[in-house]
Amino acid sequence: MFYGFYGPYPLLLLASLLFSMYASAKVKRAYSKYSRIGNKTGMTGAQAARKILDANGLTDVRIELTPGVMSDHYDPSKRVMRLSEGVYNASTLAAISIAAHESGHAIQHGEKYGLLSLRNTIAIPVGWASKLAWVFIIIGILLTGTSMYMEGNWLLDIGIIMFAAVVVFHLVTLPVELDASKRALVQMREQGIMFKDETEGARKMLKAAAMTYLAALAAALVQLIRLLAIRGRN
Ligand SMILES: [Zn+2]
Repeated sequence: MFYGFYGPYPLLLLASLLFSMYASAKVKRAYSKYSRIGNKTGMTGAQAARKILDANGLTDVRIELTPGVMSDHYDPSKRVMRLSEGVYNASTLAAISIAAHESGHAIQHGEKYGLLSLRNTIAIPVGWASKLAWVFIIIGILLTGTSMYMEGNWLLDIGIIMFAAVVVFHLVTLPVELDASKRALVQMREQGIMFKDETEGARKMLKAAAMTYLAALAAALVQLIRLLAIRGRN
């Protein structure tokens, strides 16, 4: 059962693992750094988000407090932005950057930005596919070499197709996240939430967050390459 432990795979796996660790350390470091730096307008994350939403005609989008650290997200189904404690009530550079990024998602949603619509549409089926894929893959591999070989290969293929959908999800997510951060910086400038000399810090905070999405995509791609290699050998 040591399929996939030959060729370039161990190196790819190691590289993607190191990249994931690097990205997660980088975002934690950026968050802790910019959570200690107060922003110059003294606005909290919730106030900054409210200002951006209202300026973009999104007065009906609610802002709620949610537990956790960096658990901030925009929920398109309920049109609610949920901000964590360290963002909602904090008047730091990290808080307004993250709040502006989530506002960017709300603006994308309001504009019916194509990639966001696609991501929202596939999110739930892909969530199921990511869980079920391994069941098909493991049974597929176990059946390989038995009298049910053909059936085994067929199961493996379904698993791989499901896993490919997960890679597509990450591929769609990355530009959506980059776009939300781009919108965040524009809005922070236009709405007077950010001073010019704060741009660099906000940019670094948002870039670090985007890196985690890139790492997730890389990890999923490496897994898919491994599965295709297993299939090739079978
Ligand atoms: Zn985002």
